[in-house]
This record gives sequence, structure tokens and C-alpha cells, in this order.
Amino acid sequence: MFVNIHTHRKPQLLDEICIRNAYLHPPKNTEIQYLISVGLHPWFASKMEEKNWVQTLQNSSKIKGCAAIGEIGLDENYPNMQQQIKAFHIQVEWAQEQKMPILIHQVKALSEMQLILKNFTQPIVLHGYNGAIEKWKQLNFYNNTFASFGKTIFNPSKKLIHCIQNIPLNRVFLETDQSNISIQKIYEQFALIRSEPIALISNQMQLNFESVFGKQKFK
Ligand SMILES: [Zn+2]
Repeated sequence: MFVNIHTHRKPQLLDEICIRNAYLHPPKNTEIQYLISVGLHPWFASKMEEKNWVQTLQNSSKIKGCAAIGEIGLDENYPNMQQQIKAFHIQVEWAQEQKMPILIHQVKALSEMQLILKNFTQPIVLHGYNGAIEKWKQLNFYNNTFASFGKTIFNPSKKLIHCIQNIPLNRVFLETDQSNISIQKIYEQFALIRSEPIALISNQMQLNFESVFGKQKFK
């Protein structure tokens, strides 16, 4: 069984449990054969001008199969930082109120992000993580923050290898995100870097998934 914590595609393997990113508008209930996350991505912060986007987010987050708010966050490489901050803040507050986990997209905006997450007590998944283990430690609020690794592990920097080899496995997820790589390949590569059996990784990812999402009823 392969938990794929963040993808933009439908599940590709029979034994894949995934959370598909649905932006603000999830598919109709009947079409959902997998879990989704909903949220306003920081790249599209200008959509805040769209009327009632908060209401749309709130409604979408209540539909069957919605497991998390995300991906949401801050990206310094994209414009509208003030709008990004505002959108992120609103969505973090909503997730806190609903007791939902969040999936974070963060690029070069660590301190702003820390500020907004200061009082957030629900699980946090830092998607596409490629930073140092020290950064993850800084962000490990309430001992509840997961680093999710994706395709960059095929071409990792030294600090990423160090992070993968030292991060506790109970704070890890794996993901395919927008890539076409199969989640199984990501597991294989991750297992190789850690020098651990793939079965051990896969079992722990299922336990992690259960610990974060198992309490939710998926209405
Ligand atoms: Zn993504």
C-alpha cells in the first residue's frame, strides 16, 4: 500500500491511497473515488477578487472526501504577497476552526509562514519539502509537522539527503505532486537514501496517515 499525500492526478496504482489537490472547486460528490484537499493556492492569490471565494472554500471543505485544506501557503517567487498572506491567514483560521490538517506550499517565505501558523494546532504537511532538517525542526509546531518528499529526491542536494536520513520516519510523507513518476518509485528512492526496507517505509506511512486522517469521518 502506498500513501501519496499530495497529487494533482487520480490514483495511478490499485494499492495507492492519495489526496488529490482540487483547488477551490472539487469534482461533484459522486465522482469522488479518492480523497481530496481544497484551498486557494498562493499562485492564484489574485482569485481573491472572485466574489465569495471564502464561502466557496468553506462549502468545498465540507463535502464528502475532503481530508485537508491545501495546498495553501506563500511563494515569494509569485506576485501579490500581501494577498497571499491574507488568503493563507483566512484558510489557516478556517482549518483550525474545522480541526482539519493543512497541506503547505512554501517558497522563501518561512518567517511570514511561521507567524501565521503560530497558534495552529492541527497537523501540518510541508509538501515538496527540500529544505534542511533544521528548518523542519523550527516548524515542528506541537510535534505535529510532517515533511513530504517528492520528485526532488531523485536529484537531491546534500542537505536534502541529510534531512531524509535524519528526520524521524513518523514525521514523513511521500508524494508525486504534479509529476508523472509513480508513487512506488518515490518510495523506492526514499528507501534507498535511508537504507531501509521499502516495507518499513510503507507501513510507517500508513500509520502516519492513520494518525493524521484516521480520526476524520470523511462525511
Ligand atoms: Zn501541488
